[in-house]
Amino acid sequence: MRLGIFGGTFNPIHFGHLRAAEEVRLAVGLDEVLFVPSHIPPHKELAGGSTARQRLETVKLAIGGNPHFRLSSFEVEQGGSSYSIRTIEHVRASYGITPYFILGRDAFNEISTWHRAGELFGLANFVATSRPGSPAFVLGDVLGGLAADFRADGAGYVHTSGNRILFTEVTALDISSSLVRALCRSGKSITYLVPREVEEYIKEEGMYA
Ligand code: ATP
Ligand code: MG
Repeated sequence: MRLGIFGGTFNPIHFGHLRAAEEVRLAVGLDEVLFVPSHIPPHKELAGGSTARQRLETVKLAIGGNPHFRLSSFEVEQGGSSYSIRTIEHVRASYGITPYFILGRDAFNEISTWHRAGELFGLANFVATSRPGSPAFVLGDVLGGLAADFRADGAGYVHTSGNRILFTEVTALDISSSLVRALCRSGKSITYLVPREVEEYIKEEGMYA
């Protein structure tokens, strides 16, 4: 069983998230992708005044009908600051497997600042996707001293644990949650940036207005 974990604030979820997850699922051969909205993200203020319940609902609406995508409320239920390493440990303990943690290059570039960064690569594989505005990177620049634990191979990098860092080019969709929130705030259309169900829910709830 190959399981992906896709963490994020999903404030709200948009087609950039969904398409990246789908392309990684196919490229890596994942059986399932677990979408895990964070509770309080350690690195940023939660913009737009949305609640965790609303963010969970947008993800639920967006992935409904895709048998390979599933919502996890683990981080929201845990409360407090969300740390990906806890989610990874939880998934390892629940499923008895080493998961594939999916993230965009902008997020991967900051990974050395994450909680218990030195332990992450022994616990999960990482799949870093392209994202418009985030250039390709040099492993040593991103990981600093941790890069010494990796060797390059054709598909990416292999950690001393045997886990991998993979790079996947995904269709460039220059969509961000920040853009969606800004459009809502100024009363503009978000049609075709987010699934229709998500758009309707945002309107009903008066989110980001
Ligand atoms: P915000 O603008 O609020 O930061 P965001 O669009 O960056 O929102 P996040 O919830 O911060 O969304 O991102 C969750 C994960 O999804 C991150 O790993 C991020 O790199 C990735 N991601 C978000 N948008 C895209 C996109 N358009 N293409 C590829 N990856 C994306
Ligand atoms: Mg972001």
